[in-house]
Amino acid sequence: MQKKVVHTRISDETYDKLSKDAKKRRVTISNLVRNIVEDSLDLSSEVFNLVDEKLRKKLHREDAILGYQSITLNKDTVCDFCGKDVSKGSSINLAFLENSAKKLTVCDNCKKKQEAEA
Ligand SMILES: [Zn+2]
Repeated sequence: MQKKVVHTRISDETYDKLSKDAKKRRVTISNLVRNIVEDSLDLSSEVFNLVDEKLRKKLHREDAILGYQSITLNKDTVCDFCGKDVSKGSSINLAFLENSAKKLTVCDNCKKKQEAEA
């Protein structure tokens, strides 16, 4: 396997720490740095995947619409999906979410789109 060489500047303080740590572990500074970098990349990709999964689940939860109820508006509002104005007296769909008491206002067009995607 061909190896790449990475040059980087570090402070005297960091160099001293690395040097002491390398002596303690009986490895070269280069080996120590390589191990630290590899461990750190492994760890950050694991953390990244965990966070990613959490975020996906959260989004999925928030996206899960349990059902709709059509109501007649008593005041002007906007569709929570497309931002279109919907005026008093016309009907809009209230979306009930599966895991939240929050309700979204959804215009007919967006409701159709949501239904097509689900
Ligand atoms: Zn809409």
